[in-house]
Amino acid sequence: MTRRRDIGTDDPRVRVRPGRGSRPRTKQRPAHNDAVIGTVIRIDRGHYRIRLADPSLTEDGTGDITAMKARELGRGRVVVGDRVGLVGDISGRRDTRARMVRVEERRTLLRRSAEDGDAAGSQKPVVANADLLVIVVAVADPAPRPRMIDRYLVAAYDAGMEPLIVLTKTDLADAAPLTELYSPLGVRCLATRLHPHNPETGPSQADDERPDDGVEAVRQVLDGTVSVLVGHSGVGKSTLINALVPGADRATGHVNEVTGRGRHTSTSLQALELPGGGWVIDTPGVRSFGVSHVGSADILRGFPDLARVAEDCPRGCTHEEGVVDCALDEWASTADGPDASGASAAREERRARVESFRRLLAPSLEAEDPTRP
Ligand code: ZN
Repeated sequence: MTRRRDIGTDDPRVRVRPGRGSRPRTKQRPAHNDAVIGTVIRIDRGHYRIRLADPSLTEDGTGDITAMKARELGRGRVVVGDRVGLVGDISGRRDTRARMVRVEERRTLLRRSAEDGDAAGSQKPVVANADLLVIVVAVADPAPRPRMIDRYLVAAYDAGMEPLIVLTKTDLADAAPLTELYSPLGVRCLATRLHPHNPETGPSQADDERPDDGVEAVRQVLDGTVSVLVGHSGVGKSTLINALVPGADRATGHVNEVTGRGRHTSTSLQALELPGGGWVIDTPGVRSFGVSHVGSADILRGFPDLARVAEDCPRGCTHEEGVVDCALDEWASTADGPDASGASAAREERRARVESFRRLLAPSLEAEDPTRP
């Protein structure tokens, strides 16, 4: 908690970066050395629901308080997952409000870009400091849309997050075509037999009678991490969240204990605590995931091996299929192995990886050139 105290401009004794002296002096705000740290778990019309890093600071010991942004924070967006500094009343007592006075540096930042209207080309932060982007995809009903999955992957690499694909309804169709599509990228796919609950009939069996449906494997990966779940309606995302977080009641919209505000809408982006530690962040109402703000260099950050190779590319190389002198082509066609067949297998592996990486360039390159087919 004290680790970053000397980095900001809060402490007048510390000069952060030489050469930045022309920065507005208004940054020299009061020190707030007494600020306590918390994480934003939900935002509701200007009210920020916060979980304090030290829950014992609140009167009820939950660590849950409500805060408002202090004026000095300006217009910058604060999003779910942000770690923030708080002053004022942090008791968490009913109708009290703390003041949010700073936002800590973000480790990762999931963003989406607006694709139509006035805001086209602009980008919006969605979630900060999450580790995993969990892309929930049904293998059938509705049919998977690989281009949509590719967009989510691009968003994950841009954010600095690790992607994970969770397949649902694998009792309806073969999962292999999808897992094979993403294995060259090194993206982990977990298969489940989850189906969305039918609100009319409810689950067909009691939870403790249901055979292993693959949720346990998902839980093991998510435990102890902060993950963001994305996916279209009908794929079983809410069912997965309800299975991971007992009492979350995402599908039914019941009042949620986490919010403590006696009201909960299914459209709110919200962090839910996993029983085994960690958080899952649901993204209802996020229907599109524009990635036009992401450039090929941003995607390349998700592939350290290819990024090293691409250092030998001509300046401004787009790394697309067929561009002249792209170093990825030479890399894909030269690989060593213990023998001829080993070398051939290694080449095939590299070729598949480059091809898959190039497929991911399409969504962002499309945005740069709308005339592209
Ligand atoms: Zn290149």
